[in-house]
Amino acid sequence: MNSFQNGKSEVVVIGAGTIGCAITYYLAKKSVKVRLLERNTIGSGNTSLAASLLTKIRSKPDIIPLVQETYHAMDSLNDEIENKLDIQMVGSLHLAASDKSVEDLDQLTSIADDFNISHSYISKSEMQAMVPWLKTDEIIKASFMPDDAFMDAYVLTNAFAEAARKHGAVIQQYTNIEGLVQEGDCIKGVKTKDGIIECDYVVDAAGAWSNLLSLQVGIGLPVTPVRSNYWITSANPQLFPATQPIVILPDASAYTRPESGALLFGLRESKSVHFNPEKLPSDLTGYVFGDPEDRWNILLEQGERLQRFFPKFDEIEIAHYIAGVSTYTPDGMFVLGGLPQIKGFLAATGCSGAGVAVSGGMGRIISEIITGTNPYCDINPFKIDRFGALNPLSEEFRQRCADARSHKKSG
Ligand SMILES: Cc1cc2nc3c(=O)[nH]c(=O)nc-3n(C[C@H](O)[C@H](O)[C@H](O)COP(=O)(O)OP(=O)(O)OC[C@H]3O[C@@H](n4cnc5c(N)ncnc54)[C@H](O)[C@@H]3O)c2cc1C
Repeated sequence: MNSFQNGKSEVVVIGAGTIGCAITYYLAKKSVKVRLLERNTIGSGNTSLAASLLTKIRSKPDIIPLVQETYHAMDSLNDEIENKLDIQMVGSLHLAASDKSVEDLDQLTSIADDFNISHSYISKSEMQAMVPWLKTDEIIKASFMPDDAFMDAYVLTNAFAEAARKHGAVIQQYTNIEGLVQEGDCIKGVKTKDGIIECDYVVDAAGAWSNLLSLQVGIGLPVTPVRSNYWITSANPQLFPATQPIVILPDASAYTRPESGALLFGLRESKSVHFNPEKLPSDLTGYVFGDPEDRWNILLEQGERLQRFFPKFDEIEIAHYIAGVSTYTPDGMFVLGGLPQIKGFLAATGCSGAGVAVSGGMGRIISEIITGTNPYCDINPFKIDRFGALNPLSEEFRQRCADARSHKKSG
């Protein structure tokens, strides 16, 4: 039992998604008095819907140190929690089937060299042996990165929470934050239905709903909830072996990964759908993100491009369709840190579809800011105010964020 159960916390973190739980873990590890407040249950938000790819290589190099930190965190968690994490170290295969994609792939492997990320170009027969469903005729170049993994985001999030508790964090579920308490230019606490919880810092890690809190103190975060989708086929272990790598196919705006003898595949929509956070329910259970027919419409519109590389695509049975929202920014980067005009307020959101992969890095950076340590990597690309003044709820701004999702190259 923690000694500050009823007293003032140094830090209140709002939202027990992957990001909020990672932040709480890193703070608790540094012996900061931290309380994590979640209105539903741990990992029940968009985290529970993630495809959970943890690819290390990114076309934006500033993101890579954050992913690398997540791998360090997973190693540490394995020493700290009861059950070991089920990390599926299958590697990732990056395919190029056009001149532009070859150029992008060469750039990606050169970034991989800068960060000591292992990779090797592989032949068509090697590709075929790894990925039985793949038609390799049109593939011009392929790079295999053996040290990439995926793992269930819900499990990872609960592992962060379990370890955070062991380090002394208090985690309260079923606690809705109704507002932030501000005195002058300082944050003093948060309001719940049972009263005010005082603290020195509030970290807004409320994901898709983060603006609904920050706008109360006049801060518009440059993020919008934008839909992501994936589908899971029925099982066919011969065609979809559990050991096959993650496949990234920019020429089809698609990614795949194994899912217990089936195939999970994501297709990026040409026109991504954005949401006004005020209209999202506080509990996503059973919520349909947009037109229910979109699950088939997107397959019809985008599936043809995947079929070029997956000839049996039109014969497979679809067993599941999963949709949710990620918080996108106009530049596909994150939102991390505070603003001088409101002391004690920090945000950790805008995960741009990579929140699970970067959760460790986000947790470490926020803990370093709060404890007055220099962040271990450059956080300027993630500054809250980098787009100037904006209304994050406006249609125009939300469209800019949706466009960032539509134009994303991979993942
Ligand atoms: C279909 C899909 C596929 C994805 N695939 C990947 C992937 O392959 N790799 C990857 O890295 N990422 C992926 N993501 C993104 C990933 O899911 C998120 O980036 C990640 O889970 C981070 O979420 P979060 O903690 O910001 O938000 P959430 O998990 O949504 O957590 C926010 C929490 O805040 C709580 N909250 C909100 N308001 C309040 C309040 N007022 N009071 C108390 N609590 C509050 C909510 O209840 C919620 O639990 C995917 C997302 C989707 C939807």
